[in-house]
Amino acid sequence: MTSQPSGPGPDPEHPGAGTETPPPPLRTLAEPVRGRLALAVGLQAVAALAGVVPFIAVSLIADRLTEGSPAAGDTLWPLVTLACAAGLLALVCGTAAGALAHVADNDLQLTLRRRLARHIGRLPLGRLTGRGTGEVKQAVQDDVSALHTLFAHTLLDVVAVLTAPVLALGYLFTVDWRLALVTVVPLVLGVLLFSRAMSGAAAQMAEFGAALGRISAAAVEFAAGIAVFKSFGRGRKAHERFVGATEGFADFFSGWVRATLVSSTAAVLVVAPAVVLLLLSVVGTVFVTNGWMTGAELVPFLLLGPAVAAPMGVVGPRIQQIRAGQAAAVRITELLATPALPEPTAPALPDGHHISMRGVSFSYDGRTDVLSGVDLDLAPGTVTALVGPSGSGKSTLASLLPRFHDVTAGKVTLGGADLRDIPATELYRRVGFVLQDVRLLRASVADNIRLGRPDATDEEVERCARAARIHDRVMALPDGYATQLGTAVTLSGGEAQRLSIARALLADAPVLVLDEATAYADPHSEALIQDALSALAAGRTLLVIAHRLSTIRSADRIVVLEDGRITEQGRHDDLLAAKGRYTTLWEAQRTAQPHRTAPAGGDRAADDIRQGSAR
Ligand code: ADP
Repeated sequence: MTSQPSGPGPDPEHPGAGTETPPPPLRTLAEPVRGRLALAVGLQAVAALAGVVPFIAVSLIADRLTEGSPAAGDTLWPLVTLACAAGLLALVCGTAAGALAHVADNDLQLTLRRRLARHIGRLPLGRLTGRGTGEVKQAVQDDVSALHTLFAHTLLDVVAVLTAPVLALGYLFTVDWRLALVTVVPLVLGVLLFSRAMSGAAAQMAEFGAALGRISAAAVEFAAGIAVFKSFGRGRKAHERFVGATEGFADFFSGWVRATLVSSTAAVLVVAPAVVLLLLSVVGTVFVTNGWMTGAELVPFLLLGPAVAAPMGVVGPRIQQIRAGQAAAVRITELLATPALPEPTAPALPDGHHISMRGVSFSYDGRTDVLSGVDLDLAPGTVTALVGPSGSGKSTLASLLPRFHDVTAGKVTLGGADLRDIPATELYRRVGFVLQDVRLLRASVADNIRLGRPDATDEEVERCARAARIHDRVMALPDGYATQLGTAVTLSGGEAQRLSIARALLADAPVLVLDEATAYADPHSEALIQDALSALAAGRTLLVIAHRLSTIRSADRIVVLEDGRITEQGRHDDLLAAKGRYTTLWEAQRTAQPHRTAPAGGDRAADDIRQGSAR
């Protein structure tokens, strides 16, 4: 997902074609606080109008003073009082409008974040891995903040700068309609020039966003890949794409600036207060010297004239905020519209823990099947290993058990009940998972282990940590089980995996999906993980995504997947004897990693898993 550029166009001071009608997503999202926002807008309009009154009063005072009649002095105090009262009203209403908009926006943020959290909690887990996490962060944090800017700040700013000039201009027309018309000239010219500068802005903004997106993608690639590039002596290569993207952006941006420079600069100049003041002074002097108006009548034009064109300078930059708010509203609405994992209408409870897959097919995009026609049974208390080349569908098949995704065709049953008919809480009580990419919370070690069973005692937590071979490491941490993770202390990949195994042990789900860790360089860590896994396998139904065949030699069943289909299955020795695809994979790994299959290493681990499951 690319983030919506909230930055300016070629010139941040340049307005475009005026405020746009908010699209339905924005209006729909703001619905709960619409009344309060409308009231805030009303108050802000009153504040803006009241803010003009002191200027009108001052020009009237100037008028009275120049009249020189003795009675004129008596009429001054009411005007002074009016100016003060109006100033005070502007202050009170402006403050109230700001406070009200903030309170309304605060409620809106809370409501939206709650809705998002509730909805995200009901999304299929598969939707939230990888790309999904960035999308969720963007919606919950950045997009809701963009709406805050829009509703709590931009909206009132725009109301203020659009209202005040209306009263100012209205008053100026009552003083002298001819000079009032002259006052409108900079505004009209400004609008025309701005429109010209911003023509094609939508397409340019899209390109601006795309160019920024390319930079951030290249930056991520640069940061993530630098070690690999450097270790292969290609340090320069690492930043070539990044530099290319930034150069591309600079070219695009300077082209855009060049194309709009003249009209945008002219637009800024023509509405600048000093320029408007100069124009009115010159034309006004001509009027006064020709006796078409009095000097006192010129005063309100000099005081209020610059304010008439001023909105052009303020609305423009706000357009970016309005667009960013609109785009944020669209993204939030899309996320809220993502179909949640359907909860069963007629819930069923599993009878036992036998898992059966029948005619299972699955597709991520609705077109290409990643799994097709898979039939598989996992008998309670057995270890089944999924093997196959990368991309053959092992992770996808395993992810169907904890309902990361629902099957596209066929069905998966647990204890005779279709997974889709089992209420989510019941399913997760029975099916646990330990993934390679372990997510630890910013919480204490004990709370991280307790995740699946918050009421577990300290003794139970420690028992599981011991079984998962992580207890000694935890005791070496500064505060033992109370140590907060993610801040001062971070665990290595292998340690985090053992902690997640302790978590799964404590949660005690009878069925477990396990994505076997791929790479733990040091044999000690690997042996500890294997010990932890064998504790986990004891008495459970285990589905292991096996990346190293050595560790699953004694699994009850090895299932070979190729292109989403099961091509072979059986025990290790039988599969080797059959000299089929498994034999090829086995030989390939043995030559690539001879030490992995050496009896002293992998075999011990494999036997551990096996013995564990037989216990
Ligand atoms: P394996 O675990 O055997 O490496 P996977 O189950 O991860 O295989 O992937 C099987 C196929 O599905 C691959 O072609 C992969 O590109 C595709 N795939 C995996 N995850 C996703 C996803 N989230 N969205 C789209 N395609 C995916």
